[in-house]
Amino acid sequence: MSDPRQHIMPVYNPPEEAFVRGEGARLYTEDGTAYLDFIAGIAVSALGHAHPAMVEALKSQAEKLWHTSNMFRVPAGEQLADKICARTFADRVFFTNSGTEAVECAIKTARKYHWANGREDRYEIVTFTGAFHGRSLGAINAGGNPKYLEGFGPPLPGFTQIEWGDHDALDAAVTDKTAAVFVEPVQGEGGVRAMPEACLTGLRKLCDERGVLLIYDEVQCGMGRTGQLFAHEWVDDAAPDIMCVAKGVGGGFPFGACLTTEETGSVMQPGSHGSTYGGNPLAMAVGNVVWDIISDEDFLAQVRRVSGTLAQSLAGIAESHPDLCEGVTGKGLLTGLKMKEPPKPLQGHCRDKGLLVGVAGNNVLRLAPPLIINDEDVRTATSTIDAAIAEWKAT
Ligand SMILES: *Cc1c(COP(=O)(O)O)cnc(C)c1O
Repeated sequence: MSDPRQHIMPVYNPPEEAFVRGEGARLYTEDGTAYLDFIAGIAVSALGHAHPAMVEALKSQAEKLWHTSNMFRVPAGEQLADKICARTFADRVFFTNSGTEAVECAIKTARKYHWANGREDRYEIVTFTGAFHGRSLGAINAGGNPKYLEGFGPPLPGFTQIEWGDHDALDAAVTDKTAAVFVEPVQGEGGVRAMPEACLTGLRKLCDERGVLLIYDEVQCGMGRTGQLFAHEWVDDAAPDIMCVAKGVGGGFPFGACLTTEETGSVMQPGSHGSTYGGNPLAMAVGNVVWDIISDEDFLAQVRRVSGTLAQSLAGIAESHPDLCEGVTGKGLLTGLKMKEPPKPLQGHCRDKGLLVGVAGNNVLRLAPPLIINDEDVRTATSTIDAAIAEWKAT
Protein backbone atom coordinates (compact mmCIF):
# COMPACT_ATOMS: atom_id res chain seq x y z
CA MET A 1 0.00 0.00 0.00
CA SER A 2 1.23 3.50 -0.72
CA ASP A 3 2.06 5.87 2.11
CA PRO A 4 -1.10 7.88 2.84
CA ARG A 5 1.15 10.85 3.60
CA GLN A 6 2.91 10.85 0.23
CA HIS A 7 1.35 14.08 -1.02
CA ILE A 8 1.74 16.06 2.19
CA MET A 9 4.73 18.44 2.07
CA PRO A 10 6.94 16.69 4.60
CA VAL A 11 7.80 19.70 6.78
CA TYR A 12 6.47 17.84 9.81
CA ASN A 13 7.19 14.33 10.89
CA PRO A 14 4.13 13.13 12.84
CA PRO A 15 3.91 9.76 14.59
CA GLU A 16 1.68 7.00 13.27
CA GLU A 17 -1.35 7.68 15.50
CA ALA A 18 -4.17 9.75 14.00
CA PHE A 19 -6.78 11.22 16.28
CA VAL A 20 -10.39 11.31 15.22
CA ARG A 21 -12.14 12.65 18.31
CA GLY A 22 -11.45 14.72 21.39
CA GLU A 23 -13.20 15.44 24.62
CA GLY A 24 -11.86 17.71 27.36
CA ALA A 25 -8.19 16.92 27.91
CA ARG A 26 -8.35 13.62 26.01
CA LEU A 27 -7.87 12.60 22.39
CA TYR A 28 -9.02 9.32 20.86
CA THR A 29 -7.82 7.29 17.88
CA GLU A 30 -10.16 5.45 15.53
CA ASP A 31 -9.99 2.26 17.64
CA GLY A 32 -10.94 4.19 20.78
CA THR A 33 -7.51 4.37 22.43
CA ALA A 34 -7.40 7.42 24.75
CA TYR A 35 -4.47 9.81 25.17
CA LEU A 36 -4.12 12.50 27.81
CA ASP A 37 -3.31 15.67 25.89
CA PHE A 38 -0.64 17.77 27.64
CA ILE A 39 0.35 19.75 24.57
CA ALA A 40 -3.10 20.91 23.36
CA GLY A 41 -2.17 21.44 19.72
CA ILE A 42 0.76 23.55 20.94
CA ALA A 43 -0.97 25.66 23.58
CA VAL A 44 -4.05 26.14 21.39
CA SER A 45 -6.89 24.03 22.76
CA ALA A 46 -7.12 26.09 25.95
CA LEU A 47 -10.60 24.83 26.83
CA GLY A 48 -9.82 21.29 25.79
CA HIS A 49 -11.48 19.45 22.93
CA ALA A 50 -15.12 19.74 21.91
CA HIS A 51 -16.01 22.25 24.62
CA PRO A 52 -19.84 22.34 24.48
CA ALA A 53 -20.11 26.16 24.49
CA MET A 54 -17.59 26.48 21.67
CA VAL A 55 -19.26 23.74 19.64
CA GLU A 56 -22.63 25.39 20.10
CA ALA A 57 -21.29 28.84 19.09
CA LEU A 58 -19.66 27.47 15.96
CA LYS A 59 -22.66 25.36 14.95
CA SER A 60 -25.18 28.13 15.36
CA GLN A 61 -22.98 30.61 13.48
CA ALA A 62 -22.37 28.05 10.72
CA GLU A 63 -26.09 27.93 10.08
CA LYS A 64 -26.33 31.72 9.75
CA LEU A 65 -23.35 33.30 8.00
CA TRP A 66 -19.75 32.28 7.37
CA HIS A 67 -18.07 35.12 5.61
CA THR A 68 -18.55 38.61 4.26
CA SER A 69 -14.91 39.91 4.32
CA ASN A 70 -13.93 43.08 6.10
CA MET A 71 -15.64 45.12 3.38
CA PHE A 72 -18.57 44.80 5.76
CA ARG A 73 -18.98 45.12 9.50
CA VAL A 74 -18.66 42.00 11.62
CA PRO A 75 -20.68 42.80 14.75
CA ALA A 76 -19.28 39.88 16.77
CA GLY A 77 -15.77 41.18 16.04
CA GLU A 78 -16.71 44.65 17.23
CA GLN A 79 -18.04 43.07 20.41
CA LEU A 80 -14.93 41.01 21.00
CA ALA A 81 -12.66 44.02 20.36
CA ASP A 82 -14.67 46.01 22.92
CA LYS A 83 -14.18 43.30 25.53
CA ILE A 84 -10.47 42.97 24.79
CA CYS A 85 -9.94 46.72 25.05
CA ALA A 86 -11.99 47.02 28.24
CA ARG A 87 -9.80 44.39 29.91
CA THR A 88 -6.28 45.07 28.54
CA PHE A 89 -3.85 47.92 27.75
CA ALA A 90 -5.21 47.99 24.18
CA ASP A 91 -7.47 50.46 22.38
CA ARG A 92 -7.36 48.99 18.86
CA VAL A 93 -7.55 45.44 17.55
CA PHE A 94 -6.78 43.94 14.14
CA PHE A 95 -8.01 40.37 13.76
CA THR A 96 -5.91 37.86 11.84
CA ASN A 97 -6.05 34.14 10.98
CA SER A 98 -2.86 33.13 12.74
CA GLY A 99 -0.08 34.16 15.08
CA THR A 100 2.31 34.89 12.24
CA GLU A 101 -0.13 37.35 10.74
CA ALA A 102 -0.51 39.08 14.10
CA VAL A 103 3.29 39.38 14.14
CA GLU A 104 3.34 40.88 10.63
CA CYS A 105 0.74 43.44 11.66
CA ALA A 106 2.74 44.31 14.78
CA ILE A 107 5.98 44.88 12.88
CA LYS A 108 4.23 46.95 10.22
CA THR A 109 2.41 49.03 12.83
CA ALA A 110 5.64 49.75 14.73
CA ARG A 111 7.43 50.91 11.60
CA LYS A 112 4.49 52.94 10.37
CA TYR A 113 4.22 54.64 13.76
CA HIS A 114 7.72 56.08 13.47
CA TRP A 115 7.25 56.86 9.78
CA ALA A 116 4.08 58.82 10.58
CA ASN A 117 6.05 60.73 13.20
CA GLY A 118 8.68 61.76 10.64
CA ARG A 119 11.17 59.11 11.75
CA GLU A 120 11.28 56.70 8.84
CA ASP A 121 14.89 55.97 9.84
CA ARG A 122 13.56 54.14 12.90
CA TYR A 123 12.73 50.76 11.42
CA GLU A 124 14.94 48.27 13.27
CA ILE A 125 13.31 45.58 15.37
CA VAL A 126 15.36 44.26 18.28
CA THR A 127 14.69 40.63 19.24
CA PHE A 128 16.20 37.97 21.50
CA THR A 129 17.89 34.64 20.91
CA GLY A 130 15.51 31.72 21.31
CA ALA A 131 12.66 33.82 19.92
CA PHE A 132 9.95 32.30 17.77
CA HIS A 133 7.50 34.55 15.97
CA GLY A 134 6.19 32.37 13.16
CA ARG A 135 7.15 31.26 9.66
CA SER A 136 6.49 34.13 7.25
CA LEU A 137 9.56 35.84 5.82
CA GLY A 138 9.11 38.71 8.28
CA ALA A 139 8.58 36.37 11.21
CA ILE A 140 11.59 34.13 10.51
CA ASN A 141 13.76 37.22 10.28
CA ALA A 142 12.37 38.46 13.59
CA GLY A 143 12.84 35.01 15.12
CA GLY A 144 16.40 34.89 13.87
CA ASN A 145 16.74 31.09 14.16
CA PRO A 146 19.39 30.19 11.54
CA LYS A 147 17.71 26.82 10.90
CA TYR A 148 14.49 28.53 9.88
CA LEU A 149 16.27 31.16 7.73
CA GLU A 150 18.53 28.76 5.82
CA GLY A 151 17.83 28.52 2.12
CA PHE A 152 15.30 31.29 1.99
CA GLY A 153 17.48 34.03 0.55
CA PRO A 154 19.38 36.82 2.23
CA PRO A 155 18.23 37.84 5.71
CA LEU A 156 15.99 40.91 5.61
CA PRO A 157 17.50 44.16 6.83
CA GLY A 158 16.08 45.80 9.91
CA PHE A 159 16.32 43.01 12.48
CA THR A 160 18.88 42.92 15.27
CA GLN A 161 19.10 40.00 17.64
CA ILE A 162 20.72 40.02 21.05
CA GLU A 163 21.44 37.30 23.58
CA TRP A 164 18.51 36.51 25.93
CA GLY A 165 19.34 38.07 29.29
CA ASP A 166 22.29 40.20 28.10
CA HIS A 167 21.41 43.64 29.49
CA ASP A 168 24.51 45.37 28.13
CA ALA A 169 23.84 44.08 24.63
CA LEU A 170 20.26 45.30 24.91
CA ASP A 171 21.39 48.73 26.01
CA ALA A 172 23.77 48.94 23.04
CA ALA A 173 21.28 47.56 20.51
CA VAL A 174 18.47 50.03 21.24
CA THR A 175 19.56 53.06 19.23
CA ASP A 176 17.92 55.93 17.38
CA LYS A 177 17.35 53.50 14.52
CA THR A 178 15.24 51.21 16.67
CA ALA A 179 11.51 51.08 16.00
CA ALA A 180 10.65 48.47 18.61
CA VAL A 181 11.86 45.82 21.00
CA PHE A 182 9.96 42.60 20.34
CA VAL A 183 9.84 39.84 22.93
CA GLU A 184 7.86 36.86 24.23
CA PRO A 185 7.36 37.39 28.00
CA VAL A 186 7.64 33.60 28.18
CA GLN A 187 9.46 32.02 25.25
CA GLY A 188 7.69 28.93 23.92
CA GLU A 189 9.53 27.19 21.08
CA GLY A 190 12.89 28.56 22.20
CA GLY A 191 12.89 26.55 25.43
CA VAL A 192 9.94 27.60 27.63
CA ARG A 193 11.83 30.42 29.32
CA ALA A 194 10.13 33.16 31.34
CA MET A 195 11.71 36.59 31.23
CA PRO A 196 12.42 37.62 34.84
CA GLU A 197 9.74 40.05 36.01
CA ALA A 198 12.24 42.81 36.79
CA CYS A 199 13.52 42.59 33.22
CA LEU A 200 10.08 43.32 31.79
CA THR A 201 9.80 46.47 33.93
CA GLY A 202 13.33 47.45 32.91
CA LEU A 203 12.54 46.87 29.27
CA ARG A 204 9.46 49.09 29.43
CA LYS A 205 11.50 51.83 31.07
CA LEU A 206 14.30 51.58 28.51
CA CYS A 207 11.81 51.77 25.62
CA ASP A 208 10.14 54.84 27.14
CA GLU A 209 13.46 56.62 27.64
CA ARG A 210 14.55 56.02 24.06
CA GLY A 211 11.26 56.61 22.24
CA VAL A 212 11.06 52.96 21.21
CA LEU A 213 7.90 50.85 21.08
CA LEU A 214 7.58 47.66 23.11
CA ILE A 215 5.91 44.71 21.38
CA TYR A 216 5.00 41.50 23.18
CA ASP A 217 4.42 38.25 21.37
CA GLU A 218 1.89 36.55 23.64
CA VAL A 219 0.73 34.14 20.96
CA GLN A 220 1.76 31.17 23.10
CA CYS A 221 2.08 32.56 26.65
CA GLY A 222 -1.08 34.70 26.60
CA MET A 223 -4.77 33.96 27.09
CA GLY A 224 -4.61 32.51 30.58
CA ARG A 225 -1.73 30.15 29.91
CA THR A 226 0.46 31.45 32.76
CA GLY A 227 -2.44 32.01 35.16
CA GLN A 228 -2.87 35.68 34.33
CA LEU A 229 -4.95 36.62 31.31
CA PHE A 230 -1.72 37.82 29.69
CA ALA A 231 1.75 36.87 30.88
CA HIS A 232 2.98 40.46 31.20
CA GLU A 233 0.18 41.13 33.67
CA TRP A 234 2.24 39.36 36.35
CA VAL A 235 4.23 42.61 36.39
CA ASP A 236 2.97 46.13 37.11
CA ASP A 237 4.04 48.92 34.78
CA ALA A 238 5.13 46.66 31.96
CA ALA A 239 2.27 47.04 29.48
CA PRO A 240 3.32 47.02 25.83
CA ASP A 241 2.42 49.37 22.98
CA ILE A 242 1.57 46.46 20.72
CA MET A 243 0.79 42.81 21.46
CA CYS A 244 0.31 39.74 19.28
CA VAL A 245 -2.10 37.03 20.35
CA ALA A 246 -3.37 33.84 18.69
CA LYS A 247 -3.31 30.13 19.64
CA GLY A 248 -5.43 30.06 22.83
CA VAL A 249 -7.70 32.95 21.82
CA GLY A 250 -9.45 30.72 19.28
CA GLY A 251 -9.15 27.55 21.35
CA GLY A 252 -8.68 25.57 18.14
CA PHE A 253 -10.47 27.79 15.67
CA PRO A 254 -7.70 29.54 13.74
CA PHE A 255 -7.50 33.20 14.59
CA GLY A 256 -5.23 35.77 16.14
CA ALA A 257 -5.07 39.49 16.75
CA CYS A 258 -2.72 42.43 16.90
CA LEU A 259 -3.59 44.75 19.80
CA THR A 260 -2.32 48.32 20.06
CA THR A 261 -2.70 51.47 22.12
CA GLU A 262 -4.63 54.36 20.60
CA GLU A 263 -1.45 56.36 19.92
CA THR A 264 0.31 53.51 18.17
CA GLY A 265 -2.65 52.00 16.35
CA SER A 266 -4.02 55.27 15.01
CA VAL A 267 -1.29 55.33 12.33
CA MET A 268 -2.96 52.36 10.66
CA GLN A 269 -5.57 53.95 8.42
CA PRO A 270 -7.80 52.73 5.56
CA GLY A 271 -5.54 50.92 3.12
CA SER A 272 -2.60 50.44 5.55
CA HIS A 273 -3.24 46.76 6.12
CA GLY A 274 -5.81 44.08 5.51
CA SER A 275 -6.95 40.48 5.57
CA THR A 276 -9.69 38.73 3.64
CA TYR A 277 -10.64 36.29 6.37
CA GLY A 278 -9.30 38.01 9.48
CA GLY A 279 -12.00 38.21 12.15
CA ASN A 280 -14.62 36.40 10.12
CA PRO A 281 -17.99 35.56 11.71
CA LEU A 282 -17.06 31.94 12.52
CA ALA A 283 -13.84 32.95 14.25
CA MET A 284 -15.54 35.75 16.14
CA ALA A 285 -18.40 33.55 17.31
CA VAL A 286 -15.90 31.15 18.88
CA GLY A 287 -13.59 33.95 20.03
CA ASN A 288 -16.29 35.63 22.11
CA VAL A 289 -17.06 32.37 23.94
CA VAL A 290 -13.40 31.62 24.64
CA TRP A 291 -12.79 35.17 25.83
CA ASP A 292 -15.76 35.16 28.21
CA ILE A 293 -14.68 31.89 29.82
CA ILE A 294 -10.94 32.50 30.14
CA SER A 295 -11.05 36.18 31.15
CA ASP A 296 -13.15 35.24 34.18
CA GLU A 297 -11.08 35.80 37.37
CA ASP A 298 -12.27 32.55 38.95
CA PHE A 299 -11.15 30.61 35.88
CA LEU A 300 -7.71 32.23 36.03
CA ALA A 301 -7.46 31.52 39.78
CA GLN A 302 -8.10 27.85 39.04
CA VAL A 303 -5.36 27.89 36.36
CA ARG A 304 -2.95 29.30 38.96
CA ARG A 305 -3.96 26.62 41.45
CA VAL A 306 -3.51 23.68 39.11
CA SER A 307 -0.26 25.24 37.82
CA GLY A 308 1.04 25.07 41.38
CA THR A 309 0.22 21.37 41.61
CA LEU A 310 1.92 20.71 38.28
CA ALA A 311 5.02 22.72 39.19
CA GLN A 312 5.37 20.82 42.46
CA SER A 313 5.03 17.41 40.80
CA LEU A 314 7.53 18.35 38.09
CA ALA A 315 10.01 19.53 40.70
CA GLY A 316 9.67 16.12 42.36
CA ILE A 317 10.43 14.36 39.08
CA ALA A 318 13.45 16.59 38.43
CA GLU A 319 14.74 15.79 41.93
CA SER A 320 14.37 12.07 41.55
CA HIS A 321 16.17 11.98 38.18
CA PRO A 322 19.11 14.38 38.68
CA ASP A 323 21.13 12.38 36.15
CA LEU A 324 18.75 13.35 33.33
CA CYS A 325 16.79 16.43 34.52
CA GLU A 326 18.20 19.86 35.12
CA GLY A 327 14.99 21.30 36.51
CA VAL A 328 11.60 22.83 35.84
CA THR A 329 11.20 25.73 33.45
CA GLY A 330 8.49 28.10 32.23
CA LYS A 331 5.48 29.62 33.93
CA GLY A 332 1.97 28.43 34.77
CA LEU A 333 0.73 25.88 32.26
CA LEU A 334 3.47 26.73 29.77
CA THR A 335 6.08 24.66 31.49
CA GLY A 336 8.49 21.82 31.06
CA LEU A 337 11.40 19.78 32.25
CA LYS A 338 14.82 20.89 31.15
CA MET A 339 16.72 17.72 30.31
CA LYS A 340 20.43 17.10 29.91
CA GLU A 341 20.00 15.65 26.45
CA PRO A 342 17.49 16.02 23.59
CA PRO A 343 14.16 14.71 24.96
CA LYS A 344 12.68 13.54 21.67
CA PRO A 345 12.88 9.81 22.69
CA LEU A 346 11.26 10.66 26.03
CA GLN A 347 8.37 12.25 24.15
CA GLY A 348 7.96 8.91 22.35
CA HIS A 349 8.01 6.93 25.61
CA CYS A 350 5.31 9.25 27.00
CA ARG A 351 3.18 8.72 23.90
CA ASP A 352 3.53 4.95 24.18
CA LYS A 353 2.11 5.32 27.69
CA GLY A 354 -0.83 7.43 26.52
CA LEU A 355 0.47 10.93 27.25
CA LEU A 356 1.02 13.61 24.61
CA VAL A 357 3.72 16.16 25.34
CA GLY A 358 5.89 18.45 23.25
CA VAL A 359 9.53 19.34 22.97
CA ALA A 360 11.12 22.76 22.69
CA GLY A 361 14.57 24.24 22.13
CA ASN A 362 17.23 23.90 24.83
CA ASN A 363 16.39 20.22 25.52
CA VAL A 364 13.04 20.96 27.08
CA LEU A 365 10.20 18.47 27.38
CA ARG A 366 7.35 20.95 26.90
CA LEU A 367 3.96 20.80 28.59
CA ALA A 368 1.10 23.05 27.53
CA PRO A 369 -2.05 21.22 28.59
CA PRO A 370 -5.58 22.55 28.18
CA LEU A 371 -6.25 25.11 30.93
CA ILE A 372 -9.20 23.01 32.13
CA ILE A 373 -7.10 20.14 33.53
CA ASN A 374 -7.63 19.04 37.13
CA ASP A 375 -5.34 17.63 39.81
CA GLU A 376 -6.17 14.08 38.75
CA ASP A 377 -4.95 14.84 35.20
CA VAL A 378 -1.77 16.31 36.67
CA ARG A 379 -1.18 13.16 38.72
CA THR A 380 -1.74 10.94 35.69
CA ALA A 381 0.55 13.03 33.50
CA THR A 382 3.38 13.35 35.99
CA SER A 383 3.39 9.69 37.03
CA THR A 384 3.49 8.81 33.32
CA ILE A 385 6.42 11.16 32.74
CA ASP A 386 8.20 9.66 35.73
CA ALA A 387 7.72 6.13 34.38
CA ALA A 388 8.72 7.23 30.87
CA ILE A 389 11.97 8.71 32.18
CA ALA A 390 12.76 5.44 33.93
CA GLU A 391 12.09 3.57 30.71
CA TRP A 392 14.21 6.01 28.70
CA LYS A 393 17.05 5.52 31.18
CA ALA A 394 16.80 1.76 30.81
CA THR A 395 17.27 1.90 27.03
C1 LIG B 1 2.99 29.73 17.37
C2 LIG B 1 3.64 31.05 17.54
C3 LIG B 1 3.62 32.01 16.52
C4 LIG B 1 3.06 31.71 15.15
O1 LIG B 1 1.70 31.44 15.18
P1 LIG B 1 1.01 30.66 13.94
O2 LIG B 1 -0.44 30.64 14.31
O3 LIG B 1 1.66 29.34 13.85
O4 LIG B 1 1.24 31.49 12.74
C5 LIG B 1 4.17 33.24 16.78
N1 LIG B 1 4.70 33.53 17.98
C6 LIG B 1 4.74 32.64 18.99
C7 LIG B 1 5.31 33.03 20.30
C8 LIG B 1 4.22 31.36 18.80
O5 LIG B 1 4.30 30.47 19.78
